[in-house]
Amino acid sequence: MGTSTLVCAPITAETVRKMVSDMGKAAALGADLVEIRLDYLKVFNSNEDLKTLIKESPSPTLFTYRPKWQGGQYDGDEKHRLDALRLAMELGADYIDVEFQVAHEFIDSIYGKKPDKFKVIVSSHNYQDTPSVEDLGDLVARMQATGADIVSITTTALDITDVARIFQITVHSQVPVIGLAMGERGLISRILCAKFGGYLTSGTLDSGIVSVPGEPAIKDILHVYNFRLIRPGTKLFGVIGKPISHSKSPLLYNEGFKSVGFDGVYLHLLVDDIANFLRTYSSTDFSGFSVGIPHKEAAVKCCDEVDPVAKSIGAVNCIVRRPTDGKLFGLNTDYFGSISAIEDGLRGSHDRDNTTGSPLAGRLFVVMGAGGAGKALAYGAKQKGARIVIANRKYDRARKLADEVGGDALSFAELENFHPEDGMVLANATSVGMQPNIDETPIPKHALRSYSLVFDAVYNPKMTRLLSEAAESSVTVVSGVEMLIGQAYEQFERFTGLPAPKELFRKVMENCL
Ligand code: NAP
Repeated sequence: MGTSTLVCAPITAETVRKMVSDMGKAAALGADLVEIRLDYLKVFNSNEDLKTLIKESPSPTLFTYRPKWQGGQYDGDEKHRLDALRLAMELGADYIDVEFQVAHEFIDSIYGKKPDKFKVIVSSHNYQDTPSVEDLGDLVARMQATGADIVSITTTALDITDVARIFQITVHSQVPVIGLAMGERGLISRILCAKFGGYLTSGTLDSGIVSVPGEPAIKDILHVYNFRLIRPGTKLFGVIGKPISHSKSPLLYNEGFKSVGFDGVYLHLLVDDIANFLRTYSSTDFSGFSVGIPHKEAAVKCCDEVDPVAKSIGAVNCIVRRPTDGKLFGLNTDYFGSISAIEDGLRGSHDRDNTTGSPLAGRLFVVMGAGGAGKALAYGAKQKGARIVIANRKYDRARKLADEVGGDALSFAELENFHPEDGMVLANATSVGMQPNIDETPIPKHALRSYSLVFDAVYNPKMTRLLSEAAESSVTVVSGVEMLIGQAYEQFERFTGLPAPKELFRKVMENCL
């Protein structure tokens, strides 16, 4: 059984007609209820319009008539506003939302008149920040004392760690709580409310049409984050970065979790300070993280234990929390997929089982680039026994990496006629040739004939100019997509302890690229 937390679609059209059409859309998307924002209507004839809206809604209705003094659009008479909400109740609304400031008086006014299934949500909005747990707890108690059936607290997340306080309140409250934090840093509140027992979440009808900052689309809540499968024991994973909203990793891992029946959810985590994030979300339920730019170097210091290769590279891109003692183990999976695809390419076979030892052992492995990808490839190949040569635009960076890894350094000019032996491997770890500069290549075509295999870390496009020219020169090629997919396989297996659904991963990633 998954969550009982409801998915609500705010309806913010300016006409009743458009609202009716949006309510149909919300139901088709899978929303459980609609929040009808009366304050958005340009013209509102309460009796007639409320009847239409209630009759035409395919889902249960929640009516909100938000005044300007709580961040809404309504700027008129208070009595008229509260009368309209009372009328909505009488005409068959399932819920109405009233602001904390007027809740006492409003709830007194409907005493003894409430229909059976009807519920009053008492709400409070904080557009500045998220108060302390003590202040939030006190606020919930005071809101509950108005006679609220459900208490709704919306705050502003200035940092992702603010959301932990919302979760604490949601879990411990006696009364049903809607606890949401606005802003991109509050996104996890909108998904993990399903784990922590929140009454509802809300999502937009279309991506891009946002009534509240950081509010995800219903489609994504249900189909990217698999909201209905989340329950109290669900393990949390995610990709830590800044910026992060562009990442397709949640799509990949959540599809993967679902396909193997693993009880986990993988989120976008917009993190400003990784150490603070890991300290705050320290329970073993926060089980594993992919680490992206700009936190890969800082992540090394945050782990209790770091894999030796990741330590040498100086960057961790995957953190796994040990379930037994909560300790954090950091590793770098960037090179896993590319190195094994290069080994397969050299063997001329995809069957890894009938060979012993790595075909990279003893081979000359030339890396172009000395940034993050360059380091990962150099250390990855070194670990397999290859002899390493680094070429980089800024020669001193090549020299430094070559010294660290125990190899040689070259300038790009020297690389053009570099052919000390046959059977060499060339790996591009510069961004040359990446979209939109797809006509560029880091090395002239004639130089490629000296290699047995050419790998390109660039994965967009999949077939770069470098790889096309290598293939035309009858050299085996391995694409950057293998690096991308391979590191995802490895992280999935570390996170779940289960074999990665490789076919599915390949399909999802190729669709995303
Ligand atoms: P990075 O740390 O910023 O390093 C960039 C590297 O590219 C540096 O060596 C830089 O040389 C070089 N470079 C940039 N522009 C250049 C130019 N016009 N001519 C020659 N060299 C140039 O970046 P990174 O994270 O290592 O990423 C490098 C590439 O690998 C990117 O295209 C990235 O998308 C790709 N990548 C792919 C995967 C995958 O899974 N397939 C994973 C990670 C990275 P200088 O030191 O001289 O500036």
